[in-house]
Amino acid sequence: MNMQLIREQFPILHQDINGHPLIYLDSAASSQKPRSVIDAVKRYYEWDNANVHRGVHTLGSRATDAYEGAREKVAKFINAASTQEIIFTRGATTSLNLVASGYARAVCGEGDEIVITPMEHHANLIPWQQAAKATGATLKYIPLQPDGTITIEDVEKTVTDRTKIVSVTHVSNVLGVINPIKEIAAIAHRHGAVMVVDGAQSAPHMAVDVRNLDCDFYAFSGHKMCAPTGIGVLYGKKALLDGMEPIEFGGEMIDHVDLQDATWKELPWKFEGGTPIIAGAVGLGAAIDFLTEIGMDAIEQHEHKLTAYAYDRLSTLDGITIYGPQQNRSGLVTFNLGEVHPHDVATVLDTKGIAVRAGHHCCQPLMRWLNVSSTARASFYLYNTEEDVDRLVDALQETREFFGYAIG
Ligand code: PMP
Repeated sequence: MNMQLIREQFPILHQDINGHPLIYLDSAASSQKPRSVIDAVKRYYEWDNANVHRGVHTLGSRATDAYEGAREKVAKFINAASTQEIIFTRGATTSLNLVASGYARAVCGEGDEIVITPMEHHANLIPWQQAAKATGATLKYIPLQPDGTITIEDVEKTVTDRTKIVSVTHVSNVLGVINPIKEIAAIAHRHGAVMVVDGAQSAPHMAVDVRNLDCDFYAFSGHKMCAPTGIGVLYGKKALLDGMEPIEFGGEMIDHVDLQDATWKELPWKFEGGTPIIAGAVGLGAAIDFLTEIGMDAIEQHEHKLTAYAYDRLSTLDGITIYGPQQNRSGLVTFNLGEVHPHDVATVLDTKGIAVRAGHHCCQPLMRWLNVSSTARASFYLYNTEEDVDRLVDALQETREFFGYAIG
């Protein structure tokens, strides 16, 4: 990958923060946007903006083409069988809530099981808690190994014939763990359960093929993959989506409306009540074009190399604890520096122009399992370089010296 060419396409990266060139290491929270995405959204508003699926006028049909064209790009990007399987949502959170409310509540009853892991983001945990409470189902957890991974043997032990849903993150936003989704899906299916995947941290970073994974639902957010905030995707197998009732009702999602009853449009529109996030979808389409042109395999390889480099360099710092496995990890490193509070670490780094995340990362149960209240996290994307890692390590070395008393 030509790093200079890639970095030139992200205007935001070329600025000083607190007197230092910005080093952005928080892409797991939200990625930066290339000029092509910014331009696509601007062009849409300057030339094509209108509501979709209703106007017979030219702008209405251009907006509809742009919106539905983006859906085609998404379907191709994750190798869905058809655009009917692509529902536009507000993000991974909304997508997962749609499955928990629209599917889980309809199929689960007393004594049934929903299986997840303790490494889930709150977005893939609380919707299942709520669905379990509403239906009388039991929420079960596949246990974690000491390095934060799960084993296939434990999946086999946890999933039973009472399991209706297995929902697992593809990549952990804290541990960097890459879960064996295809194998877990096969086990779920053997027991008649559906496989839901939280793809918020995988879709931006690796080639995803939902038919090869054989997952039933796959959720992700545009803003973590170079697209604007406010747009996301729920992929679902057509037969499952066909059998689900919508959870939002109103304009755009109906076929026929009487005073006492109504019928729904076909997929995917029955799940897209109201005016959709048209400019967001246009931006997501442009982001997919951008990522595809560089190549998802090239992006994955770049991040893999960079993360291994970061892991090795960070490991040399006295007093550092790095969480998650050393091998088979995605593009982030979560750590603590002795007893120094991660917010202090992040604040000192910010004075040096380096943006990292500190907190519980929306994973409170996982923090408890790690026996910490919070951590710092550096996360990488296609625009990060080894020099960024070197700057981070140098800055952490200075932070360590500054807080030396707390590291011992
Ligand atoms: N799952 C994971 C693993 C995440 O990292 C995130 C975002 N931090 C989400 C779900 C939720 O994504 P969003 O806030 O875009 O809905």
